Amino acid sequence: MPAVQGAGRFALDLLLPPQCLSCRAPVTEPGHLCGTCWSEVDFLDGPGCACCGLPFETPELDGALCGACTRATPAYDKARAVMCYDDASKGLILGLKHGDRHEGANSYGKWLARVGAELLEDADLIAVVPLHRRRLLSRRYNQAALIGQSLGRESGVPFDPMVLERMRATPSQGGLNRRQRRHNVAGAFRVRPGYEDPIEDRQIVLVDDVLTTGATVDACARTLKRGGARGIHVLTLARVVRPT
Ligand SMILES: [Zn+2]
Ligand SMILES: [Zn+2]
Repeated sequence: MPAVQGAGRFALDLLLPPQCLSCRAPVTEPGHLCGTCWSEVDFLDGPGCACCGLPFETPELDGALCGACTRATPAYDKARAVMCYDDASKGLILGLKHGDRHEGANSYGKWLARVGAELLEDADLIAVVPLHRRRLLSRRYNQAALIGQSLGRESGVPFDPMVLERMRATPSQGGLNRRQRRHNVAGAFRVRPGYEDPIEDRQIVLVDDVLTTGATVDACARTLKRGGARGIHVLTLARVVRPT
């Protein structure tokens, strides 16, 4: 009953003033950052690699390829991220992933829609990097699906969290280098049976929370392309920025 839920929500809002998504300082609206946290986040809106979006310090390089993309062309066409993954943004990502800070998902969808406007123009479908079902059961939700759903609402592009399936419960990627990460996720994904037709010749936007070396989204993009998708763009909330 939405009316009752609405009233309950209103009462709760009166009791608990909205908090900054990162530092929990009071803010005027739920799902926002306070002024200080906002100014500390490194939003990636400058020049960068034409493929993976790695920010470049020199504007003259804008649109060129970074070292990693030159050495090995990713399976996706373009990847873009809202912000740099660093101390200022870590709290947001961890809050979404392990905490109870789901109220940020609406804002994250809006931010993704803005940074990915060009990538969403010809998109037919929004898919997400899936969790293995055991991890999904223990965590109860997939953080990538929360932002993907919000991006779908924001952009009007159909969202379906079921397109890809994680076949293996891959060990955590933490502490692994680029080559080990690639090996870790190789063959971990498949197109869910029954989704062959819906992705055939489609332009897909793949959503995840963080891009680290890109090994996971690359494995997903490869799987989707093998499954018949025409093109894959990647949108993440944050990305690790390190020299390549
Ligand atoms: Zn704050
Ligand atoms: Zn690149």
